[in-house]
Amino acid sequence: ALNLRLDRLLANLGYGSRREVQGFVHAGLVTLDSKIIDDADQRIAVTPDLSQRMVVRGRPLDPPPGVALMLHKPLGVTCSHKEVGPLVYSLLPDRWRRRDPAISTVGRLDKETSGLLLLTDDGALLHRIISPKNHVPKRYRVTLERPLRGDETARFAAGTLLLEGDEKPLLPAEMEVVSPTQAIVTLHEGRYHQVRRMFAAVGNHVAALHRDRIGQLALPDDLAPGRYRILGEADLAAVL
Ligand code: URA
Repeated sequence: ALNLRLDRLLANLGYGSRREVQGFVHAGLVTLDSKIIDDADQRIAVTPDLSQRMVVRGRPLDPPPGVALMLHKPLGVTCSHKEVGPLVYSLLPDRWRRRDPAISTVGRLDKETSGLLLLTDDGALLHRIISPKNHVPKRYRVTLERPLRGDETARFAAGTLLLEGDEKPLLPAEMEVVSPTQAIVTLHEGRYHQVRRMFAAVGNHVAALHRDRIGQLALPDDLAPGRYRILGEADLAAVL
């Protein structure tokens, strides 16, 4: 396991500068297994259970490095600094936005798309989820402006659909009809505005878009828009 000096661990988690952290460590405000650690140089084995064992200023330690979260992304928040509007990161606790390594989104959802969004500070995990080689399927509930024509499922499944501006055709995608204006689409890659552009390519227009699944991990019914949850081993196993 990763092994860090206490002041480095806490500074990297956003608790303050090294000096500030040393100040409250020396003041006896950090405990491990109910015992005060007042030596900021003490090395700490960074294990996933550390939040259950370490208390900082009266509160359980924030999730140690190597964290993964699922967020129910609401409409109107953005995944990118390049767009206007509040960022998804504003939905996380303030201190979590000062972490090094930073917590970032695993891929992106459009500002006007809601649903399951993963975030992590683990670059290797991020890569495993978004790499097209791993084909982690992503499932979307789509509401359309016009009734389906009936040929969409076959056209998406063919693996020959070429989107405007792209050089390579799309990989085959699955589509299930829910109603004349609702469908469930499962993608195995993630191109820019992919679902919206797929329906544009077949003469329709997406009115609403919601991602409800990544791999076998479903957005829980009791996770309200704007809320997040830390992923456990079983959740991650469901993604990959
Ligand atoms: N496809 C889109 O068009 N938008 C998203 O946010 C995700 C998939």
